[in-house]
Amino acid sequence: MLTDLTISELGARFRSGEATSTEATRAYLARVDALDSELRAFLTVTREQALAQAADADARFRAGQPLGPLDGVPVALKDVLCTRGVRTTCGSKILEHFVPPYDATAVTRLLDAGAVLLGKLNMDEFAMGSSTEHSAFFPTRNPWDLDRVPGGSSGGAAAAVAARLAAATLGTDTGGSIRQPAAFCGTVGFKPTYGRVSRYGLIAFASSLDQIGPFTRSVEDAALVLGTIAGVDPMDSTSVDVPVPDYRADLARGIEGLRIGIPAEYFIDGMDPEVETGVRAAIATLERLGARTEPVSLPHTEYGLAAYYLIAPAEASSNLARYDGVKYGLRSPGGKDLIDMYSRTRAAGFGDEVKRRVMLGTYALSAGYYDAYYGQAQRVRTLLARDFAQAFERVDVIAAPTTPGVAFKFGERAEPLQMYLNDIFAVPVNLAGLPGVSVPAGFTAGGLPIGLQLIGRAFDEATLLRTAHAYEQATEWRARKPALGADR
Ligand code: GLN
Repeated sequence: MLTDLTISELGARFRSGEATSTEATRAYLARVDALDSELRAFLTVTREQALAQAADADARFRAGQPLGPLDGVPVALKDVLCTRGVRTTCGSKILEHFVPPYDATAVTRLLDAGAVLLGKLNMDEFAMGSSTEHSAFFPTRNPWDLDRVPGGSSGGAAAAVAARLAAATLGTDTGGSIRQPAAFCGTVGFKPTYGRVSRYGLIAFASSLDQIGPFTRSVEDAALVLGTIAGVDPMDSTSVDVPVPDYRADLARGIEGLRIGIPAEYFIDGMDPEVETGVRAAIATLERLGARTEPVSLPHTEYGLAAYYLIAPAEASSNLARYDGVKYGLRSPGGKDLIDMYSRTRAAGFGDEVKRRVMLGTYALSAGYYDAYYGQAQRVRTLLARDFAQAFERVDVIAAPTTPGVAFKFGERAEPLQMYLNDIFAVPVNLAGLPGVSVPAGFTAGGLPIGLQLIGRAFDEATLLRTAHAYEQATEWRARKPALGADR
């Protein structure tokens, strides 16, 4: 089936003429029609646009002039990325009818590479959450067990790749929102170094933490997508002008002699024993492949969550001030004056979790508490970054679990702190600005995916991809697929 192929396999079929982009696009759209009423990964399906883009790609292949490895490949996007002429909701009522007049830079780069856009994917409102239960529209289901969450906030993007509703998707990771849903859905999820991918056109949550990255079914595909979207952009002054290597070229070099650090702080009491066993087995596989492992210490890990849940809401409270009913988005009627209109609009347009973050962030930034909360959290952030810097003096890569547990049931983490605890192994990487990837590392006895997290030096995505690829090639996990619809 065309929908089972990786990007590189699909590209080979297009080049040989065995298949066309139109056939692949129709096959994906048919799967969306058949399965998405159950999974609910998509918020918007861009059927006509997809078929038109596929026809253009077919013409390029017929003329012998394809654009590159992504030409004609059907992809979909987390609905936090602006798409010109296509509704972009950010999972929120306040942007339910927002149609951006421009594309995010990452989207422009995908489209310029010939990718076919199938649609926009569900997410927690404003990317705040770990389950998609905070979507203002509906939750997405985990393809491996429909009673469980796919993770979040990029739950739609992870579920779509796992269920073969798109060849690859883009998500965003502010505090784990690519890696955690990738772990829960058994896909590859790659969070680049802060500054590697332009944030222009990414609806901001926490600007000093947000990064865009791919969900794919193989590490090689992650290399292809990352290579397409990465690189400096004049529209984002925090994007960094360092060369983007050919990530695929280096993949097969192996990991003989690579030094991998194992942080004791990432194997904690109370974590799911099956996750610990799975990740330890993955580390043993890395050793068999020639890597040398050694213990490293990241002593400030335990303060990561507290620092993150002050810094991220503080930045969010400022970023979300723009949704006031004046410039764009929802405006609630009946306000007696301007302030009343603001209040009604924000009361109606934002969900509970967003309101909680805005209040937390506003409080943390208020004059009397600024230094005690926000200032202190920033100092902890520096200590966390220093922990990693010290570890990377001795090792090339850090290996750890992506999450302390596997996909949970709907409603099981309704209490906010319970939900936040999910992000414990993810947020330090964002606070330090480093690249991280989650790769499938087996399944529990109950058939739920486990994620291995690999963390790298800033701008050293190449070593992470090479390590993840070597691991993937030594395991069978990539071949497993969830049984859905007629496959059940
Ligand atoms: N789950 C985290 C939060 O709710 C991370 C979200 C993200 O990475 N966008 O803030």
